[in-house]
Amino acid sequence: MNNAIFNFPLPSNETVLEYKKDSTERKQLERELQKQLLDPIEIPLIIGGKEIRTAQTGQVKMPHRHEHVLATYYKAGEKEVKMGINAALEAHHIWSDLSWTVRASILLKAAELISGKYRAVINAATMLGQSKNIYQAEIDAVCETVDFLKFNVYFASRIYGMQPNSAFNQLNKMEFRPLEGFVFTVSPFNFTSIASNLNMAPVMMGNTTVWKPASTSLLSNYYLMKIFREAGLPDGVINFIPGSGSLIGKTVLKSPDLAGIHFTGSNETFNSLWKEVSRQLSHYRSYPRLIGETGGKNFIMAHPSALSREVAVNAYRGAFEFQGQKCSAVSRIYIPSSLWPEIKIELLKICAEANMGDVTDPMNFINAVIDEASFDNCMNYINYALCSPEAEIIAGGHGDKQVGYFVEPTIIVTTNPRFKTMEEEIFGPVLTVFVYDDNKLEETVKLCDETSPYGLTGAVFSSDRVATSVMCEQLRYSTGNFYINDKPTGAIVGLQPFGGSRASGTNDKAGGEFNLIRWISPRTIKETFQPASEFRYKYMME
Ligand code: NAD
Repeated sequence: MNNAIFNFPLPSNETVLEYKKDSTERKQLERELQKQLLDPIEIPLIIGGKEIRTAQTGQVKMPHRHEHVLATYYKAGEKEVKMGINAALEAHHIWSDLSWTVRASILLKAAELISGKYRAVINAATMLGQSKNIYQAEIDAVCETVDFLKFNVYFASRIYGMQPNSAFNQLNKMEFRPLEGFVFTVSPFNFTSIASNLNMAPVMMGNTTVWKPASTSLLSNYYLMKIFREAGLPDGVINFIPGSGSLIGKTVLKSPDLAGIHFTGSNETFNSLWKEVSRQLSHYRSYPRLIGETGGKNFIMAHPSALSREVAVNAYRGAFEFQGQKCSAVSRIYIPSSLWPEIKIELLKICAEANMGDVTDPMNFINAVIDEASFDNCMNYINYALCSPEAEIIAGGHGDKQVGYFVEPTIIVTTNPRFKTMEEEIFGPVLTVFVYDDNKLEETVKLCDETSPYGLTGAVFSSDRVATSVMCEQLRYSTGNFYINDKPTGAIVGLQPFGGSRASGTNDKAGGEFNLIRWISPRTIKETFQPASEFRYKYMME
C-alpha cells in the first residue's frame, strides 16, 4: 500500500482544435465520419462487463437524414435492469475499497484516450448521432468531457485533503465513504459530456452506477462506455442499460439499495422520479440523494447602453447554436425600443448568412433537431405564434422533416411579455423578442425575473457598469449562471461551475466540489488516548 498523500494539480482546460481544411484533425475526422456512416454497428447492453443482447431492439438514426441507420441497439427488460443493479452492488466492494488515486488514474486515462486516440471517434459519433456540427461536437464530446474527467480528479483530491482538527488527547479523522448502495444515472441526449460526467463524478468518489442513456444519443454514449473500459474501469462499476426510460426507472426505484439519482433532463422526468422516490421512501436503506439539472427559459436583458452588434451576435449564437437544444440556450430577449431597429437589422443579417443542413458539410452552422417529437414540438410553438395577433415572425418560421428534422432558426416578436413562447421551455431554435420602453427598465427587469418558473442562465448586456450592477442584484435568484456582456451558454468546467435553481434543478454545480460532495457519506472517527475512568464531573469531586 502506498501511503503517500497525493495532490493532483489544477489542470488546464482542453484546447479546442480548429479543424481548418487539410489540418490533420480535419482529415482524421472526415475519415471517421465516413467509417461510421458506412458501417452501422450493434450496441449491446454492458452489465458486469458482459455484452448482453435481448430480443427487443431499436435503431439509432441520424436526425439530419432519418432514413440512415447508424446502429441497432438492444433494449433492457426488467431482468436486465435487476442484473445491472446486482452487478453494481457486487462491484461496489472492490471499487469503494480501491485507493482513490487508482480511481483517479482511470479517469485521467479516459481523458487521455478521448483527447487523443478516440478524439475523432467520439466527435464523429456525436456529430452523426446528435446532429452537431464540428465545433459543437468538439466543445462538448471532447473538450468538456476531458475537462470534467480531469477537474473532478483535482476537486476530489481537495475533498480528500480535508480533515478535522485533533485536540489534545484525541485523534479525529474523516473517512470519505461512497454512498451505500448504487447510483442511478439518467442522461439526456444533448451533451455527450453530461452523459460521461453523470457517471464519472459518482464513480470518482467510489460509487458504482446503473446508467440509463438517452436512446437518441446511444452512439456516442456507447463509445464512451467502451473508452471507460479501455481506460481500466473494472466490470460492473458502470452498467450501461439502454431501453425504455419508464420501464428502467420503475424497476430501479423499487430497489432498497438505491443510494442516489444523478439526473439531467426535463422537469417532467425528474419530477416523476422524485415523486416515486418519495412514495417509496420508507423502503430505502438510506435517503437517496437526488441530484438533477433540468429545464431553463434563459434570457438576455439588453440595457439601453448596450452595443447593438454585440447583443445581436450573442443572441443569435446563444439561441441557435446546436439548434437551441442547450439547457442554457437563450429563448427570450428584452430589448429597449431605442436599440431595436439596429439590433433587428443585425439579427436578420446573421440569419440570412447562416446555413442549415447536414453535419458533414462544415459550412452548415445549423443542423437538425434531435427527433420527430422535437420537430413537431417546435413547429407547434411556431404555428401558435403564426396564428396569434400578439406575435410576428420576423425570421424563419418554416420546418421540413422529409429528409431530416430541420427547423429554421425562428425569431418571434411579441407585444405580450407573458406570451406563451416567453414563458415555456421549447428546447429548439425559437427565440422570442419583447421590445420594452426605455423608460420602463426597472419594471422590465422585474418582469424578466418573474416570467418563468426556471432559474438556469441569463445575461445582461450593458456598457453602464452601475446599471449592470443594479440588474445583477435585481436578478439574483433568476439564474444559477449569470453573464455580463456574454451569451449565457458555453460554461466551461473549472471556470463557470454550472447549474440552476428554482425549477431548473438542485443546483449542485456539475464539474466541481459541490457536486462531488453529494456522492460521499463521510464517517467521522474520534479516537481518545486516555479514556475517562471517572463518571463524576470535576465540581462534584470538590
Ligand atoms: P428527457 O427528460 O426526455 O430524458 C432524459 C433521460 O430520462 C433520458 O435518458 C430518458 O430516456 C430518461 N427517462 C425518461 N423517462 C424516464 C423515467 N420515467 N424514468 C427514468 N428515466 C426516464 O430529457 P431530454 O429530452 O433528453 O433532454 C432535454 C431536457 O434536458 C431539457 O429540458 C433541458 O433543459 C434539460 N437539460 C438540462 C441541463 C442542465 O444542466 N440544467 C443540461 C442538459 C439538458
